[in-house]
Amino acid sequence: TRLTVAPVLPDEVFTLNAAYFADTYPQKVSLGVGVYRTDDGKPWPLPVVRKAEKELAEDDDLMRHEYTAIEGDIAFLPLAQDLMFGFTGQQGEEEAKARIATVQTVAGTGANHLGALFLAHHMKPPTVWLSNPSWANHMTIWELAGVPRKTYPYYHAATRSFDFDGMMSTLESETQEGDVVLLHACAHNPTGLDPSKEQWIAIADLCERKKLFPFFDSAYQGFASGSVEEDAWAVRYFFNNKPDMEMCVAQSFSKNFGLYGQRVGAYHYVTNRNATAIRDVIVNNLCHLIRAEFSMGPRIGCSIVKKILTNDELVADWHRDLQVMSSRIQSMRHALYNELVRLKTPGTWEHIIEQNGMFSYTGLTPKQVYALKDKYHVYLLKSGRASISGLSQKNVAYVAQAIDDVVRN
Ligand code: PMP
Repeated sequence: TRLTVAPVLPDEVFTLNAAYFADTYPQKVSLGVGVYRTDDGKPWPLPVVRKAEKELAEDDDLMRHEYTAIEGDIAFLPLAQDLMFGFTGQQGEEEAKARIATVQTVAGTGANHLGALFLAHHMKPPTVWLSNPSWANHMTIWELAGVPRKTYPYYHAATRSFDFDGMMSTLESETQEGDVVLLHACAHNPTGLDPSKEQWIAIADLCERKKLFPFFDSAYQGFASGSVEEDAWAVRYFFNNKPDMEMCVAQSFSKNFGLYGQRVGAYHYVTNRNATAIRDVIVNNLCHLIRAEFSMGPRIGCSIVKKILTNDELVADWHRDLQVMSSRIQSMRHALYNELVRLKTPGTWEHIIEQNGMFSYTGLTPKQVYALKDKYHVYLLKSGRASISGLSQKNVAYVAQAIDDVVRN
């Protein structure tokens, strides 16, 4: 062979999931992969998605399986914008909309990747700053884009809280003009810790003053709090209040529509208000990258989202489905917390109910995580990240008991 290939370490989530599936223990619990599960531990195709799928199936649309435009499904793109940036069709929105170049992507991962590639080619940032810790794939994506990576502090282990001061002082003193700062729009993965509104305002000010480029990753809009407005607050604040700053957003529809395998996403590049003339050239260059990579995003998932977002009744159904998912996760956080308190498990556990979104950074050590797996068949990431949606009324007491034991021993 002429190849030089060395083994690449697979993402821990996938090896953990395989180990979980191979485990035959009846009481095993998966708190690894970030997917929504019902209280019975089953996948939950959203009822609104089922409804939209039935309507689509009855529709004799001859175009259904045709190619789309390179930038994606043209009718989907403004809907993705409206959802992310909060446009409601009022007069006077045109000026703001003119700042945004949007293309369809292969879900949130594809949006992150396309964005990284586009910036690497056309902005050449000296450094991209990722939170420490961050979604593991951010590291991979930016490594492959060839942009030097550094991390800013995010998690304060001793207090199990967001290290706002650490983040600000690093970004203040160590960044240079033109650096990219990757920000999780809500439900930070893996810590579940988000800045407060006041803190977001300070981060926006700092980005503006230091001429940094905010790159938002929005993977949980509506899924985290149940409200699409609340979960888009930071993105919309930057967009509306910093019109002289440029930024971009990688938008995923995987979690909030439960369309994981359908790969629905969008990438939005936002120009500053004086650079709207180059918007079409930006789209054109994004299309160039898309054309070489996958020609265009896939259709079906996108058609489902389109069907829902263009029908008021279905939108109301969707908001109810978001409430179902986010409130079940909230209630499982409380159930786990209450059990740990009842067992008087050594340590403090308030962070479990204070964190946001799919994940809890439990504060368990790697040794405790291994003990949970070996002794109790409870699977979570070595960092102590637990996917709360793997908890249920049936297994939460068992999991709490297992945590109690490994913490004491
Ligand atoms: N960013 C973050 C922070 C995520 O947690 C995820 C989902 N794991 C994604 C992006 C992308 O997910 P997808 O490609 O399935 O849309």
